[in-house]
Amino acid sequence: DHENYTQKPHVVCIPYPAQGHINPFMQLAKLLHSNGFHITFVNTEFNHRRFAKALGPGFVMGLPDFRFETIPDGMPSSDKDATQDIPALCESTRKHCFVPFKELIVKLNSSTKHEKVPPVSCIICDPTMGFAAKVADELGIQRIQLWTASACGMLGYLQYDELVKRGIVPFKDESFAVDGTLDTILDWVTGMKDIKLKYLPSFIRVTNLEDDIMFDFIGSATKSCINPSSSSNTVIINTFKELDIEVLDVIMAKNPNVYTIGPLHLLNHNHFPNDHHHHEKQNNGKFKSSGSSLWKSDSKCIQWLEKWEPNSVIYVNYGSITMMSEQHLKEFAWGLADSKHPFLWILRPDLVMGESEKSILPQDLLDEVKDRGYITSWCTQEEVLGHPSIGAFLTHCGWNSTLESICNGVPVICWPFFAEQQTNCWCACTRWEIGMEIKEDVKREEICGIVKEALEGEKGKEMRRKSLEWKKKAMEAIDKGGSSYNNFKRLLIERFSIII
Ligand code: UDP
Repeated sequence: DHENYTQKPHVVCIPYPAQGHINPFMQLAKLLHSNGFHITFVNTEFNHRRFAKALGPGFVMGLPDFRFETIPDGMPSSDKDATQDIPALCESTRKHCFVPFKELIVKLNSSTKHEKVPPVSCIICDPTMGFAAKVADELGIQRIQLWTASACGMLGYLQYDELVKRGIVPFKDESFAVDGTLDTILDWVTGMKDIKLKYLPSFIRVTNLEDDIMFDFIGSATKSCINPSSSSNTVIINTFKELDIEVLDVIMAKNPNVYTIGPLHLLNHNHFPNDHHHHEKQNNGKFKSSGSSLWKSDSKCIQWLEKWEPNSVIYVNYGSITMMSEQHLKEFAWGLADSKHPFLWILRPDLVMGESEKSILPQDLLDEVKDRGYITSWCTQEEVLGHPSIGAFLTHCGWNSTLESICNGVPVICWPFFAEQQTNCWCACTRWEIGMEIKEDVKREEICGIVKEALEGEKGKEMRRKSLEWKKKAMEAIDKGGSSYNNFKRLLIERFSIII
């Protein structure tokens, strides 16, 4: 009825249009929804079509109080189911999204009467979608930024200005990549003392700042999270206090309005499940269980995991953006095969440029591993990592993957690709002590050795012990009275005057 819907706080969520941003945004959206919020979730037209294809039309239909809207991303139109070119997408959203997004918000606010949409009370913005914050500020609507990467990644990007000041970036010429420059130890990074240059977010690897998009793009996006010009610059980070104390101390000295309420997917599952029934009734449960994947998941891999002993399977997944050469793919394949351990290997259809992955793998190799290797194109990762058979996770160290691994007590083998994945790898290996790193130039012997070490060796045991400790701390953080639980409660009171 009228009174009911107008009283609901209405949050608009607008993630950067990539899987690693959409997932935490969806988790936060569901969390707020189950606390009585009306949600508008904004996808790009491109991703909306992919959702409809991967998850079915029921998903994108949403619910009366959880709706999807779209804006164009400004990219040339394409009906491929592949990850978009990231620098091009950054440039395009920056240039083209402000106007359609502003029009959407105005439309939502004018449809309040006839369509039972409450007025927009807050926009949850992605710092890498700077136009969204600008729209909120222009229309006088409260905004909150959700930083979907790691806290250490944020601190890494915050060094970008200093690197330029010190004359380290841009590099003089391409030789920095091979002459050991990246091994330089930096003793001046407060919160990440003695980190090597190569573990700072990878967009520093440039020789000319004028021709480069990412260094400035993400550098300014990150600065918007600590910009003190706005006293209400609220920022949510998907981590928990206990995991990132040193780094958060530095960040929160710059912006005290930072709320760590992660791991978001756990907070979501464990608490506030009050209206999931409601979903199930309306959408046959699809809404709750389908997650927010842009690819169709292979559910059979979970059954396959059933046949293996606890902690015996190596799970390999490079996330949604990583690309690699044919040669590296083959080295991974032979390394996994030679380790003799069972493996679940996810090969995204657009992982190797221009090639279909399975056709790259030699038939003799496929024959050799057919009884202990399961190769497929996409899985529900949360479910896989939660399966007792998984012994270790060979990952590109995307923040969501890293956090999901931590929550499940699974140690990691790190092969960072780009962005702040290098920094996550550093934290996993040196700070959290749950990981081992493999060299950028993949070699089968190294893969084989490290898989064996992780699943059979002493170092592997130690990493598992540590991972389980972190898992326990993650659980405590989201439990009643834990740091993330309390911060979420505080967020609702301080920003929405809602008491739970
Ligand atoms: N993911 C998934 N199935 C896959 C691969 C990835 O569900 O086969 C999910 C994964 O659980 C994570 C997200 O996609 O939540 C990837 O985000 P991440 O930050 O790890 O990496 P990115 O894709 O941004 O590089």
